[in-house]
Amino acid sequence: MEDSWRKYLSKRAPRYTSYPSALHFDGSVTTADLVEKLGEIDVYEPLSLYVHVPFCRQLCWYCGCNMRVENYYARARDYVSALMNEIAFYGRALGGRGRPTSVHFGGGTPNYLLCNELGEILTAVEREIGLTDSANLAIELDPRLLRENDADNLASLGFTRFSLGVQDFDPVVQKAINRLQSFELVEACVSDIRAAGVDDLSFDVLYGLPHQTLRRFEDTMEKVVSLSPDRVSVFGYAHLPGALPRQRMIDEAALPSEAMRSDLAALADERLIDAGYLRIGFDHYAKPDNALAKAGFEGRLKRNFQGFTDDAATTLIGFGASAISFVDGLYAQNEKDIGAYAARARNGEAPVSRGLHRTKRETVLASAISDLLCNLKTNISLVLRGAPPADAIRICSALEGLEADGVIQWRGDTITLADGAHALARTVAMAIDPYAQPQVEYAAAV
Ligand code: SF4
Repeated sequence: MEDSWRKYLSKRAPRYTSYPSALHFDGSVTTADLVEKLGEIDVYEPLSLYVHVPFCRQLCWYCGCNMRVENYYARARDYVSALMNEIAFYGRALGGRGRPTSVHFGGGTPNYLLCNELGEILTAVEREIGLTDSANLAIELDPRLLRENDADNLASLGFTRFSLGVQDFDPVVQKAINRLQSFELVEACVSDIRAAGVDDLSFDVLYGLPHQTLRRFEDTMEKVVSLSPDRVSVFGYAHLPGALPRQRMIDEAALPSEAMRSDLAALADERLIDAGYLRIGFDHYAKPDNALAKAGFEGRLKRNFQGFTDDAATTLIGFGASAISFVDGLYAQNEKDIGAYAARARNGEAPVSRGLHRTKRETVLASAISDLLCNLKTNISLVLRGAPPADAIRICSALEGLEADGVIQWRGDTITLADGAHALARTVAMAIDPYAQPQVEYAAAV
């Protein structure tokens, strides 16, 4: 990374998996708002479905997810019943409208549930909403919980996209984050998954963890490449112990410096590109024949709550505690508390607790930010045209600063990230995002 870019690394940037982010949701959105929106969608509207399974067997200290360590399986069984009720609720609200193009199971740990329960959930989706063979079924897996025959059984249920949480293979790093899983264990999982005929396997890797050094991370990346996943997501660990008390278990003194974080990200980038992967957006990598890479070539890449995706659907329905739906400018998030979620779902209601009605202005900004993150460039004219004068001046000044440092090129209406500046895509997005500028009076802009 260029030396003049390093000053931007200390700025914590949002992940921009939605815009505005869930931090800006409030209690003004109700289940009735969501039902009204669902009643207006087209019969053939593509739907992207998400199912949140919040249970884990053990706590990873770096975790930022809405999850609970659960030792009583009966509680997970109750949660599955609540999910069934919620799916039935949405089936009634949709009344035959919408066609699911994908179902993604995330968590927590989806494979905390047994395969027959995952099958029950899919059967409920098929019965209440409809599911065709062409829909992509994806699941996030904890390799430590993958049981014998699970890969085969999941493939038989129709899952074609598997994602394994790898993070780091070094035992010292694993101990410091309370997630011990040997290379041999992950290798055996990969072998099972491949034997089940799965040709879309993704790994999650984390940099910025305690005790990571270039030598250790080099070894991790070598091992990642040796297992030949079809996609790799390389995320930066965000240490926020004030907001996430579980992260207080992590020894801050052992965390890498900002400069080291940047070097670790660059190392992962270099190893993956050398191994033949294509960079997708700013932190995903895929083999050239993978669906995500093809979406990248063809300009179809999108960003949603799961990160980068080739799913064309813009209407999202989330099931489970904390899951978020997005329908025609409306964000609606379910109760985060698992007990509160389950109680409401059992009563036969959609357990929406908060959300946001996106304004026209926010829709313009969302589109520009998505373009920046997916394609590393965007047309800035609409962003500037609709901005309050003070904000337009601020945006221009911030972009000029980024241009002077060589992070972007600004030609006519288009700003483009410079070669090698992909890691700063979210920093550039912050320059046009009024929510990232606390001093800007944004409420007036609609
Ligand atoms: S398995 Fe995933 S969701 Fe569960 S604690 Fe670890 S990081 Fe968090």
